[in-house]
Amino acid sequence: MSHPAPDTPLYPLLGIARHRIGIDGNGVTTLVAGAGCPLQCRFCINQEILRNKSGSMITPQGLFERVQIDDLYFRATGGGVTFGGGESLLHAAFIRDFRSLCPSDWKIRAETSLAVPKENVRIAAAAVDEFIVDCKDPDPVRYSAYTGGDVSLMMDNLHLLQDLVGPQRIIVRVPLIPGFNTVSDRDDNARLLRDMGFEKLDLFEYVTSKISHNGDSPQIY
Ligand code: SF4
Repeated sequence: MSHPAPDTPLYPLLGIARHRIGIDGNGVTTLVAGAGCPLQCRFCINQEILRNKSGSMITPQGLFERVQIDDLYFRATGGGVTFGGGESLLHAAFIRDFRSLCPSDWKIRAETSLAVPKENVRIAAAAVDEFIVDCKDPDPVRYSAYTGGDVSLMMDNLHLLQDLVGPQRIIVRVPLIPGFNTVSDRDDNARLLRDMGFEKLDLFEYVTSKISHNGDSPQIY
C-alpha cells in the first residue's frame, strides 16, 4: 500500500451515513462526519466530537473510494457528498482535494457554523457547491452565551462567503434555541439576514429533551 504524500490533508473521519434523502441537500446524499469544533454549543448533539478531537484519519483518495459506490445515485438525483461534523470547514483543504477527485456533477455541500479562519472560507468557497450555515443567533450576547464564541467571526465570514459565492449557494439555518432566544428574536434574526441579501433561510427549532447526560447539558434528539 502506498503512503500519502507528506502534505496530503487528512480528515478525522467519525462516520459515513449513506442514502440520505432531503436531509442535507437535494438528492441522495452521503453525510461525512468529521471530528473537532471550536464552539461549545450548549445543546450540541456531538459532545463526543468535542471530547475526541480525532477520528480515524483518512486521505482524500481513501474517502473517494469509500463514497463512490453511490455515484449513480448522486448523478441521477443531483445529490452528492455533504461534509458535517463537528466543524467541516476546519478541513477546507481536505474538502478541496477531495473535490478534485470527484465527478463534476456530484454536489459537494458543507454544514458549517463559519467559526473558522477566513482562509478556510476562501479555500472552501472554491470547492463547495452549497453551504448550509447554522448561524446560531447573530446577537452578540446570545451568541456568546450559547456557543462560547465571538459572533463577529461568524458574521465577518458570512459576509465574506456571500461575496465569494453569492447568496444562492448559501442556506442559512436560523434556530429557535430554547432558553437562549425567543420566536421574536428569531424573526428579528431572519429579517436581518434577509436585509443582508439571503433568501434561502431555514427557520427551525432545536428540540431538546429533559434528559441530560452530564447533569446540566440537555441533548438534542
Ligand atoms: S457548532 Fe455544531 S458541532 Fe460545534 S459545538 Fe455547536 S452544535 Fe456542536
